[in-house]
Parts: sequence; structure tokens; C-alpha cells
Amino acid sequence: MITTANIPDRGDKKRLVVIGGGFAGLELAKKIDKRQYQVILIDKNNYYQFQPLFYQVATGGLEPSSISYPHRKNFQKNKDLHFRMCEATFVDPDKKELTTNIGIVPYDLLVIATGCDTNYFGNDSIKENTFALKSLSESLLMRNRILLSFEESLTTTDDSKRKELLTFVIVGGGATGVELAGALADMRKSIFPKDYPEIDFNEMDIHLMDGMDRLLGGMSQRASQKAYDTLKDRGVNIHLNKTVKSVEDSCVTMGDDSQIRSRNVFWVAGVRPNSLNGLSENSYNRGRLVVNNYNQVEGYNDIFAIGDTSLLVSEDRVKGHPQVAQVALQMAKNLAVNLNGDSERNSAWHEFVYKDKGSLATIGRNAAVADLGKFRFGGWFAWWLWLWVHILSIVGMRNKVSVFIDWVWSYLNYDVSLRLLVRPKFNKMYKEEDLQ
Ligand SMILES: Cc1cc2nc3c(=O)[nH]c(=O)nc-3n(C[C@H](O)[C@H](O)[C@H](O)COP(=O)(O)OP(=O)(O)OC[C@H]3O[C@@H](n4cnc5c(N)ncnc54)[C@H](O)[C@@H]3O)c2cc1C
Repeated sequence: MITTANIPDRGDKKRLVVIGGGFAGLELAKKIDKRQYQVILIDKNNYYQFQPLFYQVATGGLEPSSISYPHRKNFQKNKDLHFRMCEATFVDPDKKELTTNIGIVPYDLLVIATGCDTNYFGNDSIKENTFALKSLSESLLMRNRILLSFEESLTTTDDSKRKELLTFVIVGGGATGVELAGALADMRKSIFPKDYPEIDFNEMDIHLMDGMDRLLGGMSQRASQKAYDTLKDRGVNIHLNKTVKSVEDSCVTMGDDSQIRSRNVFWVAGVRPNSLNGLSENSYNRGRLVVNNYNQVEGYNDIFAIGDTSLLVSEDRVKGHPQVAQVALQMAKNLAVNLNGDSERNSAWHEFVYKDKGSLATIGRNAAVADLGKFRFGGWFAWWLWLWVHILSIVGMRNKVSVFIDWVWSYLNYDVSLRLLVRPKFNKMYKEEDLQ
């Protein structure tokens, strides 16, 4: 039998349970009035992760701790916010209970902000034989894979295996794929040859592929062209209109049956929502939670969804909003204002209106693209803008300073300093069974 989770009594306050401490959940937990609500913040991890810079951890440019922040530190001064590291699995809207792996959490109001995970489109061969980039631990795994490939390429005497180790395939030509390809191309030019003088880096191939006819499909045509030209100049092999059929035995097979052999296949081609079971069928649309203009989940007054996992369709946005950080943050802010005013929906509640602040993507050193309203530009200025926007967005002053120092150091020295292959060691005394 599942017992009730050990959480302090709510007293005479309403209990607001927030699942997910990412962009949306964390913002809501910060902005909600703790004098009115007892807030229970639930997350699988005990830290917040700044996903736009995962690729920098994966390529040794930043420490994992520079782009993450402990939830408990964020809320040290909030005595009526209780963080629990656990996984939510099911919601019972009739009983107003959330099932988690530490027990049942009763709620008055529930906010689902569980974000997305990697989408393999049901293809197990891709899931099992590629590396994803949707969490800090996956970023570290990718970093280890990259470094291990160079180490192994030095020790093997098999030429075809060496070629597979020195071939990098990135599937997905969105911002993450472009950023990853650009970072690897920069490292091939100025960093790896210094670390591995015995390797002939003419043998290192970087492939970037996408099923669409252009890179950066969410940005303007001009940004796509700029990204394409810059990556081509930097020696990246770009394959457009190519879908991946399977990845098996170090072989990537495309829809047209062409193949590339590689031991480093990075899958950044799609996301799927982490939505929660238990709600009525009408509440879901391809896994996302359908919400109204107040972010209330279809069919429920006391359950809300914000951020990537929610789907808010309007006349001008028939496919919903883009799954980006700004949408998540703005939804959280709007919901906090509404709930702080009155937890029951009333005429004073504000409808969610997305203010699009534009898009930025970096392509590598001194190169980025920006679509800011009518202004579309690329190059050095866009790159500096990208750096500053990211520094300002990172949570925690120490993190902002440390990222700034790492980036200045890398820029001046043409170097990244975090090329460590750290692997966890098994110890039978380390168990997480109390959380199961
Ligand atoms: C590699 C990468 C690069 C990106 N780059 C950009 C960019 O440049 N610009 C941009 O605007 N957006 C970017 N995005 C998208 C952006 O990160 C997301 O839109 C944003 O994180 C969505 O916020 P969210 O709060 O909905 O979800 P998330 O930030 O993903 O947070 C979800 C949280 O829920 C927790 N969680 C999930 N399921 C459960 C569960 N069952 N129980 C408990 N906890 C759970 C997770 O641990 C996580 O902390 C990028 C994403 C990735 C992966």
C-alpha cells in the first residue's frame, strides 16, 4: 500500500503542489505568495538545470555546476516552501492526490511543469545506440564519449575502428544540433590537435543532418542560410532532407539507405512531453496537456500546466506556442499573478499572452544568428549578444561570474579547460532505495 508522503501539515493555507523545478516550475515557486500557499516543489533532481548550455558542458566549455543550481539553496529563506526530491507518477483528480515514489501528496491546487524528454519516435535502435542531450547527466555522458573516442582512437590498431571513433554524427539541425556541430568544429581546429598531436585531424569528420530542407527550422530563412554557410566553412558535412532509419553496430542508416559509420551518434532531433497519467483523455493532445488561456488543464479548475508540457492553442497559434524558455517563464509569471490575486478563477484573472522576445542561436566562435522582431542579423555582434543574454539568464550570481570567467578564458586562449573524463564508481554502500 502506498502511504502518504512525509510533508508538514498545511495548517490553514491552501497547498499548491508544483511538479518540476525547471524554467516554469521554478519561476512559479519563486513568484507565488507563500503567505497564502503552502508550496510543495517536487523534482526528480535536487537542482535546476539551464538546458540551453548543456552543449557547452558536453564539449568541455563549462562546469556542470555553472549551469545548475540546488533547489534547496534557492528556497533557504522560505519556510513554507517544502522541496521533495522524488518522481511524480500519477494524479487522481477526484481525490486530489498525487502519487510519487515517496508516497501520496494531497493537494488543493496542482501545477504540472514537467517539461520534455528526448523523442526517439518509437525507434529502439536509435534510443539504445545514440547519446541524447536533455539532462546534465546526459551532457556529462556525451562529454565522456567525445573524450573516450579520442583516447581509444590512439590505442586501436584497426583503421576502420579509428575512423568510426573519429566520426561524429549529430542528428537534428535545430539550435542544439547547430551549436554542438559548431563547438566540435572549433575544437577540431584549435583544441584537440594540441591535446592529441598524434592524431591526424583531417580524419575527424563532423556530420550534421536534418529531415527538413534547412537548418534552424524555427528561425528565419536568413538565419538558416547563415548557419549553413558558417558550418560549411568550418568543415561540417551538412545533410538536409535526410531522416535516420536506424542506428546499429556503429552504423547510421538513412531513409534513402545511405550509411555513415560512427561510434559517436548524438540524437538531438526531437522532444516529447513528460506528461502525467491519470487525467481524462480530453486533457491530452499527443501527450501535451491541453490548457485554456489561464493555463488550466482541460476539464479541471484546480490543475494547471505550464511550460513545454502544456499546449495552449489559439487562433493565431494553431500548433500552440514554441517549446522555449521564454514561453515557460511567461506562463509561470502569469499564473503566479492570477493565483496570488485569487485562487478561484474570476473575472480579474489575466489571460496568457506571449511576448516573443526573439531567437538567438550560436554557431561557434564569433558566429551566431539573431531574429529579433524585424531585425535579423548574424556574425560577431549576434554572438556577443548571445553570450550576454545567456549570462544574464543563468540562475545564481556565482554561476554568472564563473561562466563569464570560463568564456573570457576560452576566448583569449582558444581553449576550454574541462576535458576531464570522470566516470562514476560503483559502491555497494551507495543506495537510493529510501526514495524508491
Ligand atoms: C539542449 C537544449 C537546448 C535548448 N536551448 C534553448 C535555447 O537556446 N533557448 C530557449 O528558449 N530554449 C531552449 N531550450 C528549451 C528550453 O530549455 C525549454 O523550453 C524549457 O526548459 C522548458 O521549461 P519547462 O519548465 O517547461 O521544463 P524543464 O525546464 O525541462 O523542467 C522540467 C522539470 O521537471 C522535472 N520533472 C520531469 N518529470 C518529472 C516527474 N515526473 N516528477 C518530478 N519531476 C519531474 C525535471 O527534472 C525538470 O527539472 C533548450 C532545450 C534543450 C534540451
